[in-house]
Parts: sequence; structure tokens; C-alpha cells
Amino acid sequence: MKPYAEVIGDPIAHSKSPLIHNFWLAKLGIDAEYRATHVRPDELADYFTRRRGDAEWRGCNVTIPHKEMVLTLLDEIDETARSVGAVNTIVRREDGNLIGSNTDAESLVAELSDELNSIAVAEFGAAVIGAGGAARAVLHAFARHSVTGVTIAARDIAKANALLDAFGLDGYSQGLTEDIETSGILVNASPLGMVGMPELTTEFTGRPLVFDLVYAPLETSLLRSARARGLPTLDGLVLLIGQAALAFAKLFGVERPLGVEAELRALLTA
Ligand code: NAP
Repeated sequence: MKPYAEVIGDPIAHSKSPLIHNFWLAKLGIDAEYRATHVRPDELADYFTRRRGDAEWRGCNVTIPHKEMVLTLLDEIDETARSVGAVNTIVRREDGNLIGSNTDAESLVAELSDELNSIAVAEFGAAVIGAGGAARAVLHAFARHSVTGVTIAARDIAKANALLDAFGLDGYSQGLTEDIETSGILVNASPLGMVGMPELTTEFTGRPLVFDLVYAPLETSLLRSARARGLPTLDGLVLLIGQAALAFAKLFGVERPLGVEAELRALLTA
């Protein structure tokens, strides 16, 4: 058997992770594989017991609905995952111990480093739409970069206020029908605009960098309207590929190959 890693979730067929990791493994000529494995919530504990004893298993990525549930089944949780309250990458150390991290949040901290430290964000603040797991990863990045003046737009304002408190952020929560005012950065961390979901109707004023975490479709109406106004944008593949790159290094012990991103993006959007 060759070394392997995998993504676990329920359901799992939709996951793009095997395509990304196997693309990088093939480019690097590494004889290992990355699978998708369907694990239901009631199977999680048994799954880890089996995998702990499997020396070929390097670890796994974790997707919906397990990102919070796995916290109690691991031996160590790193600081970022603890702050976000969710794990998306688990690495098996040689002694069999399982270490949980959150590369969504790590990737957002890294990708947004320049933007979050920019004068625009310092002056005009940062906003996030949504109050779920992805929003928590974004708020972790805001807190890491000591952003002040954070707006959360969500359907549940009490939940959004609790998030501002939890991350020690100075800011304001509002509903989804109110315009968002920011010229710093605006991140959509809700599923609104995703295939099969209602469109995001929240409007914004100002001239922020607009980052939509939704990647299906890649060109959301939020990004279309931002581009039509001449604003800088980042699409959902930035995070999808960014979090996978950090997970790849943890799981396989090597950096992803460079110079192949355009080919990977074409594969992911084919
Ligand atoms: P989640 O934990 O389920 O949270 C979803 C959030 O959106 C919650 O705050 C929820 O509101 C809100 N929401 C859901 N349906 C809504 C609706 N119909 N109207 C208004 N608000 C609604 O999901 P998540 O993990 O944060 O993911 C959110 C989205 O981010 C995903 O759908 C995906 O598009 C994107 N994402 C992308 C990447 C990437 O790699 N690019 C990674 C992670 C996530 P309540 O709090 O009131 O339930």
C-alpha cells in the first residue's frame, strides 16, 4: 500500500480536494494518493480508531458536517483551530497521535495579510457576510491583524454579536437587508450566491476589496458588480486552493508545486 491521505465528510462526492491534491502529487511525481471517504457522524470515532493504527495514513481533511465534532476526538488542537472552534486538517504523527489544525483560517491570515494591514482597512474597516464556520475563519484573520471597525451582516444578529465578542473585535452587527458601508474589505462568507441558494441581495457602499468565498459559480453576482465598479476582487478559488496548499504541506511533508496554478484553476472550473 502506498501512503495516502483523504477528505472525510457526509456527503463527500462533491469535494474538490481529491482533484487538487492528486494534481499536485502527480506534478511532483510523488507515489501517494488522496481519496474521498464517506464517513457519517456516528462512524467518526471508529474511523479514527482504525486510521490511528494505519501507518500509511498521513491524515485527512475534514468537511461538513464534521469540522466541529472532530475537536473532541483528537490528541492536540493547534491555536488557530482552537480560536476558530473548528478543524479542517488532521495529521497523524509517527507516534499515532492526531493533531488538528484549521488551514482555512491560516490561509485567510496569509492571503489577506497585505490587505488587512493596508491603510484602507485601518481607515475604513472590514466587513463579513455570514456568521457560520467560514465567517469565524475570516474573523480570526481580522483579529490576528488587529482590525478595528468590523461589520458582520447576518440573518441572526445575536449570533453575529456573540462572534464579535468571542474574537474580541470592536464592531457592529446588522441584518442582511441593510447596506454595508466599507471601503476596506468585504468578504462574503455566507452560501448566498452559491448554485442552488438564493442570490445575495445585500448592497454595499464605498470602494472595498471584495472577496467572495463562494466558488460555484466562480463569478458570483457580488463579484460581477464589484468588477463593474472597478473594485479589486478575490474569488472562492483563492481560499479553496490556499487552504489545500497548507494542508498538502502538512499531510505530505512537501510544498505544492509552483507555476501550475492556472492549469489547476482550469481543471477546477472545467
Ligand atoms: P455554515 O457554517 O453552514 O454557515 C453558513 C452561514 O450562512 C450561517 O451564518 C447561516 O446563517 C448563513 N446562511 C445560510 N443560509 C442562509 C440563507 N438562506 N439566508 C441567509 N443566511 C444564510 O457554512 P460555512 O462553512 O460558513 O460556509 C459558508 C459558505 O462559504 C459556503 O457555502 C461556501 O460557499 C463558502 N466557503 C468557501 C470555502 C472556500 O474554500 N472557498 C471554504 C469554506 C466555505 P445562520 O447562522 O443563521 O444559520
